[in-house]
Amino acid sequence: MKTIAVDERGYYGQFGGAYIPEMLYPNVEELRQTYLEFMELESFQREFQSLLRDYVGRPSPLYLAKRLSERYGVTIYLKREDLNHTGAHKINNTIGQILLAKHLGKKRIIAETGAGQHGVATATVCALMGLQCIVYMGSVDIKRQAPNVARMRMLGAEVRPATSGSQTLKDATNEAIRDWINNPEDTHYIIGSVVGPHPYPDMVARFQSVISEEIRWQLEAHTGRDYPSAVIACVGGGSNAAGAFYHFLNDERVRLIAVEAAGLGVHSGESAATSVLGTEGVIHGSRTLLMQTSDGQIVEPYSISAGLDYPGIGPLHAHLIKSGRAEAISVTDEDALQAALDVTRMEGIIPALETAHAFAALDQMKYAADDVLVICLSGRGDKDLDAFMTYLDRVEPLGIHSEK
Ligand SMILES: *Cc1c(COP(=O)(O)O)cnc(C)c1O
Repeated sequence: MKTIAVDERGYYGQFGGAYIPEMLYPNVEELRQTYLEFMELESFQREFQSLLRDYVGRPSPLYLAKRLSERYGVTIYLKREDLNHTGAHKINNTIGQILLAKHLGKKRIIAETGAGQHGVATATVCALMGLQCIVYMGSVDIKRQAPNVARMRMLGAEVRPATSGSQTLKDATNEAIRDWINNPEDTHYIIGSVVGPHPYPDMVARFQSVISEEIRWQLEAHTGRDYPSAVIACVGGGSNAAGAFYHFLNDERVRLIAVEAAGLGVHSGESAATSVLGTEGVIHGSRTLLMQTSDGQIVEPYSISAGLDYPGIGPLHAHLIKSGRAEAISVTDEDALQAALDVTRMEGIIPALETAHAFAALDQMKYAADDVLVICLSGRGDKDLDAFMTYLDRVEPLGIHSEK
């Protein structure tokens, strides 16, 4: 059986590596030489585990979604990352990275954010550790994710708007990289997904791998079998998916389903379905699939969901999809909105718009009745209520609530 793991130089098959300006070489090299040893230190493990338990609230429950299971005629478990402190999986990674930053003696933390969840998770761990925090965020995202901007400011972080390009996640990432180039000495850049130059994709996947580690023993306790038939997760850069897939990567009994945002439709020109529309190229420090023109200009992505609105995909996922190990499904804005509404009313859980894409993928999947599916419920939907209300006002105007 083929083993899926990153190699010495940071490649998964042909994807990955570290394509960085000379100025960043010392920082990235320092991380590369430190991260694996650091993660094995007993002192790190003790502090990481204790924060995950007492601060984040792990293990997150694995919940049997009975009504959803009935509707689809299959067994569906939800991995409840929405119940983590700060409301998404992002905190698993920021806790790991802030401990590494402290270990390296860094005093200043920068981050990029799309939906604001990674910005909030970073501002949170900076408050926890008493470190300065600057978060870059696209101006468009600042508008559509106002509650998270308020949370970051409350936590003492400085939110700096990225005003170039589509003014979303890609542009915020460009600004963060520019900042790092100008402040290489005292600054650690906490990347929020399995993207960027090696070692970030592998490092972030390892910090997030607690998700599938827990799924294994929780599923065994629930069903007597420690692996599901399929794991389904939405993919922006791909960190919640990487964490949910991690311990099943080399287990061919488990289907890996990566769900991307199709925006207004995969071929509408307004989409973020990178695995379909993307070609090989370099973005934000790694060789991967990205949406680009034939002369290498990045095509502006679009999704209603700020966390999936990114023209690239982590190199691990590019490899998983191109090699056939993972299946990619793309879901439109409209289908994600309807799925969010359905899940909320069937399970009493309001999922994040990003996560809603993973739920909508159920309509496009084939499975057997005795399959056990695990959906990574990457985050909660409080931040998306404006988008949900706009949708609800359209499909179910106030006062005409149907009696079902
Ligand atoms: C950030 C975010 C995502 C997308 O990021 P990944 O790195 O692909 O996981 C998905 N869901 C939620 C709730 C998020 O906050």
